[in-house]
Amino acid sequence: MAGLLAAAALSRAEPALQVHLLDQDELPQDPANRRGVPQGRHAHLLMAGGLSAMESLLPVSVRDRLLKAGAHEVAFGNGMLALTPDSGWFHRWRRDGPHMITCTRALLEWVLRQALLECHPDISIHQATVDGLLGDAQRVRGVRISGAADPRLGPELEADLVVDASGRGSGSLKWLHDIGITGIEERNIDSGLTNATRIYRIPAGAESFPLTLVQANPYNGRPGRSAMVLPIEGNRWMVSAGGTRGGEPPADPEGFLEYTLNLPHPIVGHLIRGAEALTDVVVSRGRSTSNGRRYFEKSVRWPERFVTLGDALATFNPAYGQGMSVAALGAQVLARELRGGLTSPGLSRRVLRGAARHVDMAWSTAVAMDVLYPGVAGGEPAFTDRLAAWYTRRLTRAATGSFDAAAALWDVTGLTAPPARVLRPKVVLAALNGPALSPTFEPPLRPSEREVLDRLEKSGAQPGASGASRPR
Ligand SMILES: Cc1cc2nc3c(=O)[nH]c(=O)nc-3n(C[C@H](O)[C@H](O)[C@H](O)COP(=O)(O)OP(=O)(O)OC[C@H]3O[C@@H](n4cnc5c(N)ncnc54)[C@H](O)[C@@H]3O)c2cc1C
Repeated sequence: MAGLLAAAALSRAEPALQVHLLDQDELPQDPANRRGVPQGRHAHLLMAGGLSAMESLLPVSVRDRLLKAGAHEVAFGNGMLALTPDSGWFHRWRRDGPHMITCTRALLEWVLRQALLECHPDISIHQATVDGLLGDAQRVRGVRISGAADPRLGPELEADLVVDASGRGSGSLKWLHDIGITGIEERNIDSGLTNATRIYRIPAGAESFPLTLVQANPYNGRPGRSAMVLPIEGNRWMVSAGGTRGGEPPADPEGFLEYTLNLPHPIVGHLIRGAEALTDVVVSRGRSTSNGRRYFEKSVRWPERFVTLGDALATFNPAYGQGMSVAALGAQVLARELRGGLTSPGLSRRVLRGAARHVDMAWSTAVAMDVLYPGVAGGEPAFTDRLAAWYTRRLTRAATGSFDAAAALWDVTGLTAPPARVLRPKVVLAALNGPALSPTFEPPLRPSEREVLDRLEKSGAQPGASGASRPR
């Protein structure tokens, strides 16, 4: 994601640059999962802030292309059902909030890659693995590669600028160490979140049922447990359950269904119990969901002509749906800084600092909540985390029945406004006053949606109709 968008940013530079995109994987011709992006099998929400950054980098409408390919557009304001951690369901306002895009991660990547290559046919994509940097602590001059599919690519590829967009497993700390840059500060906060995901065919009549989310509760000292039903292309639901350490969802179909039924509200289980499963349950592994940050922007020494973007710079607990958007916002910073010229001194540092500001936005939301879960590794809640959590809890409670509070929460979650948006006087007042409407503990369904849910609940409860069955 970061690599495609960085390539889009570089392709707009003047004078024109020759852009090479290296990926260890052979990239598929169709929207398909691949080895290098294991997280692609899990739910991926694209926030409005990320979409708008993508649209600014490409001269075509990414939104229109995604929708044409079957993606859905969901409004925060009234397009979703969401149960808050401890304050009942969000009200569904008539007025919309920012929109997010829902589809598979594979479709998103494919649409972006097609758009990129169509707009910039001279970009070359190579299958090759990057093993290190050429150059020294003053200036990076290219990369060392192996496993190139094209024999014309030697073991070294010289470049005027190198962008590391190799994701969560990036080797950049070692690569930098090898050219003499050491002592990069790091922070890792791991709530032990495990995601379990399964795809279903949307039952007939439920095609317009809203995105449904039961949020995890970070405030009760117990492991977080959550689940979401997400409409994706191809008339399918992607259903993702997530549990922090001690509350992990299981991989077996019966256990998966049971998990969703035992959440504070069983709605997700009721929706899927009678639905036809199209895949097995896929479970995320290891530390693939931790918050991890490399403070490159604070390093005393930094080489010219080398930047890192996307997950290579920072990763976030995916429950907040921010990683791809932060990658896009980082690529937008690169595009902006390139206007001053590729050779302008300090370019790399300015890009890192600008990208880090977007990382800060997502990091503060994710970490303030994650440090509250039991068994979290790498972080005790600091006073500021507790303060942020206290305020977020109040604001969320207010947002269940105050439009001002809800709109502020959507803007920050959708990355269309900085965190300071929630500190505007009107919003603070709403948070302190609490919700104007009384909390609802049953989902705010429209009559037609209530009918659909009742029908699915009844048909799913019949013997032999269990959505726990193996895919046919
Ligand atoms: C379970 C889960 C759910 C998520 N849900 C969301 C969500 O809802 N919304 C959201 O915005 N984000 C979500 N994310 C985060 C999102 O997946 C990442 O933030 C995003 O993919 C980052 O993009 P990237 O390009 O930096 O890294 P990646 O997308 O991981 O891409 C890295 C690329 O680098 C290649 N590569 C790696 N090493 C090398 C090498 N040495 N040489 C050559 N190529 C290499 C890989 O093959 C891959 O193509 C989720 C993450 C997880 C784990």
